[in-house]
Amino acid sequence: MNSQEITARFREIRDKVESEERLSLDDGIFLYDPAVPLQEVGELANFVRERKNGNVAYFNINTHLNPTNVCVYRCRFCAFRSDLRDPKGYVMSDEQILARGQEATENGCTEMHIVGGLHHQKPYEWYRHIIELLTEHYPKIHLKAWTAVEINWFEFQTKKSIEWVLQDMRDAGLGSMPGGGAEIFHPEVRDQLCEHKANTHAWLDIHRTAHEIGLRTNCTMLYGHVEKAFHRIDHLLRLRDLQDQTGGFQVFIPLAFHPENTKLSDIKKPSALMDLRTMAISRLMLDNVQHIKAYWIMLGIETAQTALAYGADDIDGTVRHELIYHDAGATTPECLTVDSIRQLITEAGREPIERDTVYRRIHRDENDFTQWESGESVESSLIHP
Ligand code: SF4
Repeated sequence: MNSQEITARFREIRDKVESEERLSLDDGIFLYDPAVPLQEVGELANFVRERKNGNVAYFNINTHLNPTNVCVYRCRFCAFRSDLRDPKGYVMSDEQILARGQEATENGCTEMHIVGGLHHQKPYEWYRHIIELLTEHYPKIHLKAWTAVEINWFEFQTKKSIEWVLQDMRDAGLGSMPGGGAEIFHPEVRDQLCEHKANTHAWLDIHRTAHEIGLRTNCTMLYGHVEKAFHRIDHLLRLRDLQDQTGGFQVFIPLAFHPENTKLSDIKKPSALMDLRTMAISRLMLDNVQHIKAYWIMLGIETAQTALAYGADDIDGTVRHELIYHDAGATTPECLTVDSIRQLITEAGREPIERDTVYRRIHRDENDFTQWESGESVESSLIHP
C-alpha cells in the first residue's frame, strides 16, 4: 500500500470506531502494519479508552502467591517452572502461606493473586486446601486463583467436570480467576509453545463455565515470541466471541514475552513500540471488554505510564512477591508503594482510583490504612469527559 492508501484505509477504520462499529480481522492486521503511524493508532485507542472509562486509571493493592514452581509441563516461554528434583524447586508450607496472608493483611491488600506450577505429587486436595486455609484465616482478602491450565489439571486429577471443580473451589473460597495460560490460541503457535497443556478449546470452555456459574475472570495474550499479527488478532477475536456469549471477562491484559532463562532466549524482547501498538489494538478490537490493563511488572513503569494514553485504563496493583516475570528477566521493582503507584498514574495525567478485584471502589479508613471496605462498582461513578 502506498501512503495515500494507508491514510484512506485508516480513515475507514477511524469512522468505524467513531460510530462504534466493530473492527474485523483484516482491520486488526492492518493496524499492526508498521507503516500505520503508531501515534494515530494510539490516539484512536485513547478515544475509545476515554469513551469507556473516562480519565481515571485503576489500581489495586495486592500480593502474589505462587505455592510451588514444580511443574509437570515444560512450556518453552516459562522461566519460572522447576523439575521435581531441581534445587530451584520449592513447595510452600501452610505456615509460609499463612505468613503471606498475614503480611497482605498488614499491608492493606485486598487481593491475593494465586497461580503456580502443576506439581507431580501434590493432589487436588492440596490446591483446594490453600484456598480454604486462606479463606478461614483472612476471609476479607479476595482470592483470585488458578488459571484455566490449573483448572484443567484439577479436572484430570479429580476426573470430575469443570463445573464441579469450579464450584468446589468456590465453596472453599475462590473469588475469581486470573487470565493466564491463554498464551496464543492459534494452534500454529500454541503447538510450538506448550503443546501438552490445556488447549485453546479447554481454556475457553473453562472460562465459559466460570462465567456461567457467576465467577468473573480475566483474559490475557502472551505476545512478542514466535507469533505474527494474524495470530494476535485471531486470539483477540476468539476472546471477543466468548465475551459476546457470556460477558464474564472483566479485563484484558496483553503480556509482553520476557525471553531470559526460557527455551526461547534467542528471541528479542518486544520493543516498547510493539507494547504500545498491542495495547492500542487490543483496546480497539475488544469493544466488549470494559478494561485493558498495562501490567507494569512486564512493561516497565515508563511504558505502562505511556500505555495509559494508548488504550489502557488499569495498571494492576502494588504487587508483592512477583516471581514469574522476574525469573524471566523483568527488571522492574518487585513491589511499588501505594504513593508511588498513585504518583505514576497522576504523572500520566490520569486520576488514580483504587479498586478491588471485581472493580468496586475501595474506601479506606483515613486513620488506619489497613481497614477498608468495597463500595460501589467503578462504572457507576464514572464521569465521562
Ligand atoms: S507456564 Fe505454567 S504450566 Fe507452563 S511450565 Fe510454566 S508453570 Fe508450568
